[in-house]
Amino acid sequence: MSAISIRGLGKKFGSADVLRDINLEIREGEFLVLVGPSGCGKSTLLRLLAGLDRATSGQILQNGADISAHAPRERNFSLIFQNYALFPHLTVRNNILFGMKMRGEPKAEFPQRLKKVADLLQLQPLLDRKPAQLSGGQRQRVAMARAIVREPALFLMDEPLSNLDAKLRGEVRDGIMALHNTLKTSTVYVTHDQIEAMTMADRIAVLDGGRLQQIGTPEALYRQPANMFVAGFIGTPA
Ligand code: ADP
Ligand code: MG
Repeated sequence: MSAISIRGLGKKFGSADVLRDINLEIREGEFLVLVGPSGCGKSTLLRLLAGLDRATSGQILQNGADISAHAPRERNFSLIFQNYALFPHLTVRNNILFGMKMRGEPKAEFPQRLKKVADLLQLQPLLDRKPAQLSGGQRQRVAMARAIVREPALFLMDEPLSNLDAKLRGEVRDGIMALHNTLKTSTVYVTHDQIEAMTMADRIAVLDGGRLQQIGTPEALYRQPANMFVAGFIGTPA
């Protein structure tokens, strides 16, 4: 079953074709990694999914309904970037709950939902701190918690590890996988890092020059790359 279907999606900026004829099914509960070199169109595709920008052609379907023209807030998707911004004057707890409060969600659910994400991301000891009292990895875990606590239909992550050093990267990656293994939120995770793709993905979608080159499990891409680009990109990890 597909959570989201992308059909013939294209995006032009002026006369430049940044995305061409993208066809992709995002399956219910899967961790899909979108990988490709810098400038290939990964962030553009994520922004189209999030509703932050409009496609030039094609459609995005959610449970069969065309949501291409829906505003971001109508989609119930969460998007997280490398440059997370927390509210400096709010505690970790109130940063995490901010979106739920703004949307007027039932207060009775807050403690249980907060506990679940704080446990998975190991944020319990930090709930009363302010962002200035946190490390970079801790801040990124708070940003993850805030994005996922609202139980989005689709979780979109754009290179969330890329501003972290190697040690913190491992810590945040473990948090992401703990979240996913428990909550099973359908996810599109963008990276230019082949190792992240190979180790985190249920399936990998390889993008180059605005076109999808191949979609499959890490094993399938490794064993049977569709072309030289995929072979070079996946087959020879740095
Ligand atoms: P990636 O995330 O894979 O590095 P992007 O999706 O950010 O790539 O960008 C893909 C291409 O589209 C790049 O050539 C970039 O310069 C171009 N691009 C992205 N956003 C815009 C924009 N708002 N206006 C014009 N060109 C853009
Ligand atoms: Mg990008």
